Amino acid sequence: MKIEQLKDLLKKFDANIIYDADLKKKNWFNIGGKTKVFFKANELKDLVEFLKTLNNREKIQIIGAGSNLLISDETYDGVIIKLGKNFNRLSILNSNMIISGAAVLDKKLSDYAANNGLSGLEFLSCIPGTIGGAIKMNAGCFNKEIKDILLSIQALDKTGNILTIPVEKINFEYRKNNLPEDLIFLSASFRGLPKDKDEIKKTIIKLKNQKDKNQPTNIKTSGSTFKNPINKTSKKVWELIRESVPADISFGVLVKS
Ligand SMILES: Cc1cc2nc3c(=O)[nH]c(=O)nc-3n(C[C@H](O)[C@H](O)[C@H](O)COP(=O)(O)OP(=O)(O)OC[C@H]3O[C@@H](n4cnc5c(N)ncnc54)[C@H](O)[C@@H]3O)c2cc1C
Repeated sequence: MKIEQLKDLLKKFDANIIYDADLKKKNWFNIGGKTKVFFKANELKDLVEFLKTLNNREKIQIIGAGSNLLISDETYDGVIIKLGKNFNRLSILNSNMIISGAAVLDKKLSDYAANNGLSGLEFLSCIPGTIGGAIKMNAGCFNKEIKDILLSIQALDKTGNILTIPVEKINFEYRKNNLPEDLIFLSASFRGLPKDKDEIKKTIIKLKNQKDKNQPTNIKTSGSTFKNPINKTSKKVWELIRESVPADISFGVLVKS
């Protein structure tokens, strides 16, 4: 659709839309070009209305924290959607079930579980993404994956219908699942096992230290994308990548919060 037509169609969403938006600040590696439309959906009703208004006339892509995306330098000829405020909520049900919005950071869910004395979600503290991205990728580390703690998800199809899908109906494999590509995950429920809060927090610190040692997340080498050499005495992938680049090219270093 021509941009003028699109602007006319989407006028009522103007407060949450950026046209010709730069995507560099929206992904982990700070790379890539622009998108024709960037829409921040703060509430479910806005998202449903937005999708119904678009009515499949544009390509749509949803992004989380952008930690598993390599964005092209070419302008994306479609709409990028990011979930905002109301998808960033956490709550406890029946003392051992956590309901998490899809925009919640994995680390935030892990900390929330720890503060509520629920174990099993510690590994999420080591994955730099959102719950939506983690479900899509069946994210995992330290021998645990999202499928191991998931109970059900709530999702939206691109025509605006809301579905609840129990984990038994989803086939998860290594870093993928068999759900339709066009689903937008809205929220998910997770199972935790009651345990002493301090023990859980100790485990989180241990896992984070282990991960930082093997795959430091404050240096953007994308080393975590590759398997480390089997030989334990060899350098780690992130070290090899860093050393392979000329000294006058610097890697972005993140300031840890
Ligand atoms: C330093 C570093 C360390 C990492 N370590 C690990 C690790 O230990 N284990 C691991 O599994 N991964 C790891 N990753 C990869 C990445 O963090 C995970 O894949 C993460 O789950 C991606 O989440 P995200 O929110 O950033 O998703 P994005 O990168 O934004 O998107 C990834 C995919 O998920 C889709 N998506 C995002 N949100 C939604 C939603 N709400 N609904 C539907 N689809 C959605 C996107 O369309 C896209 O297809 C690492 C990455 C980095 C940079």
